[in-house]
Parts: sequence; structure tokens; C-alpha cells
Amino acid sequence: MHNIFKAMVPDQCFKKFDDIPFEELYKQGKTCLFLDYDNTIGPDRTWEPNDYSIEIIKKLKAIGFTLCLVSNAKSARSANIAKILDIPCVTSAHKPRTIGIERALKLVNADRTKTVMIGDQVFTDVMAGNFADMTTFFIERYQNKEVWYVKIKRPFEKIVRLFARF
Ligand SMILES: [Mg+2]
Repeated sequence: MHNIFKAMVPDQCFKKFDDIPFEELYKQGKTCLFLDYDNTIGPDRTWEPNDYSIEIIKKLKAIGFTLCLVSNAKSARSANIAKILDIPCVTSAHKPRTIGIERALKLVNADRTKTVMIGDQVFTDVMAGNFADMTTFFIERYQNKEVWYVKIKRPFEKIVRLFARF
């Protein structure tokens, strides 16, 4: 029980994706980012990235990061987003299981100690990253609008955040 609870706690928490000090992070040796898409770098359940996501990816590429989208979304939608953003992608990642993250590590040939998993959900993104022994960043969701099966998890997430103080 103790370990499960620990897996729900991210290494760092940010209000907005833009608040992450990316250049510093890169200099510190975290050179690879695994990114959730829905409500992390773009709106929930869209088929195409918006200007915000396009700008973010452009900035991260310019710094030099190795990037991979690690999404629980079905393949067609997340693959389309990744294609437009021109970054590698693991679809149907089954977070909080680590299977998708392990696939992503192989796909982009990344070292987990140099990788940060970034996402807007404790019970998928943060847990998957922690189970895979990598650094995890939690981001406040991009918009309030989200699909019902994510919405129903938020009160439980709130309780976890209250106890863990993040
Ligand atoms: Mg998400």
C-alpha cells in the first residue's frame, strides 16, 4: 500500500507546461521527455494538435530533447497528432502499466535515468512513470473540458494531492 501511494506522487508539479524550466532540465542531463498528449500539451480528445502544442514541441526540439508521445489514446488519433508534430509515438500505452513506457524507451533508444514522464493525470501518467523508475512531472490539466472517465477520477486525485501535498 505504501509503495502504491508513493507511486502517485510526482517529483515535481507545475501549473502550466510552460512553467517547466526546460533549458535547465536539459543541462541537468534530463535529455528525453515522454509526453502525454490529452490535456497535457493540448486539449482533451482532439484529432489534431493546436497551436499551443505545436509551439511547445518546436521549443523542445530546439533545445535538443529526444521526445516521444506516450498516449493511452487509440492508435489512429494519437498517431495522427504525433505525425503532425513530427515526433515518435507509442499509442495505447496502457498507463499506469509500464508496457507503453518500455516500448517508448526502446523506440527512441532512451536511458530511463535521463527521461522525464510528463502528464496531467496522477493515476496514469505519474504512476506509470514512477513504476518505470523515471522522473515524473505532474501538470495541471490544460483545460477543464475532459472526457467523463477522466473527470470521475479527479476527486480521487484531489484526495491524493491533499495528502501528498502537491
Ligand atoms: Mg492526459
